[in-house]
Amino acid sequence: EERSRDAELKSEELQAAKEQLEEKAKQLQLSSKYKSEFLANMSHELRTPLNSILLLSEMLTDDPDHELSEEQKEFANVIHSSGQDLLNLINDILDLSKIEAGKLEVSFEEVYLSEFIERMERNFSQTAKNKNIDFNVNFSQQVPPIIYTDEQRLQQIIKNLLSNAFKFTEKGSVSINIDHAHPEEIRFNPLASQVDAWVKISVTDTGIGIAQDKQSMIFEAFQQVDGAIMRKFGGTGLGLSITKEFCQLLGGTCTVESQEGKGSTFTIIIPNLPGGMPALKEIEAAE
Ligand code: ADP
Repeated sequence: EERSRDAELKSEELQAAKEQLEEKAKQLQLSSKYKSEFLANMSHELRTPLNSILLLSEMLTDDPDHELSEEQKEFANVIHSSGQDLLNLINDILDLSKIEAGKLEVSFEEVYLSEFIERMERNFSQTAKNKNIDFNVNFSQQVPPIIYTDEQRLQQIIKNLLSNAFKFTEKGSVSINIDHAHPEEIRFNPLASQVDAWVKISVTDTGIGIAQDKQSMIFEAFQQVDGAIMRKFGGTGLGLSITKEFCQLLGGTCTVESQEGKGSTFTIIIPNLPGGMPALKEIEAAE
């Protein structure tokens, strides 16, 4: 009888512990929701005054009546570009908080891949010239001309990868390669067999590279390889975590191969699926 009384007590204790844990989990979920909401609201409130700063400093830079000295115009320029940096940062934080809250929506549409890549190339051609870095695009004939994906998200992904490539490269080259992915490269996605084509876009640079043991942490928010690099190059450590999250939202993936001192290759693989692909997280949750 004593034994069964013991067992009863044990199971009551277990039940109480379980309830406590569930309560904790609920609280955590709630506070993470509040954090995301706070970030979203704050970002919105910050953007409004910032837009005035951007607009008015741009008007000063234009100086249509020639009333400003060169130095004053240069100051206006600095205000404008600092404001732009701040806006980019706020947008990144907003995107991340939306991702965390599960509120970031993707809309799949037809994207003309070669035109899309040409646009990306044009965006960075001046940077390449300024830094005297070769900039190449290699387009495989095997890639479908039109793919179904979210163009705006894809644009942010490629922009992030290219701006990192140019930022961390002093000499040599940056190249974009567009190809189809091989079957062994798409095993990460359980729905892979339903997709008729996978597109692989990689951005390769001959820059400073990333040490082996740091390669997984760079995809986490606010992580940079080290403080010295951060002080030298600036940045927030948000770009790659957004890139990775966006790739997952598109049903794809983002990986890195790199050798310190030699350069890096960031590769994204995304599905071409009319109507879009459920995000990987949802697929995993449903299993
Ligand atoms: P940010 O560039 O704003 O610091 P990211 O999330 O884009 O943030 O990158 C995180 C870190 O990963 C960078 O600070 C840098 O240390 C490293 N990194 C990213 N891309 C490259 C690259 N192409 N070459 C070398 N290091 C890179």
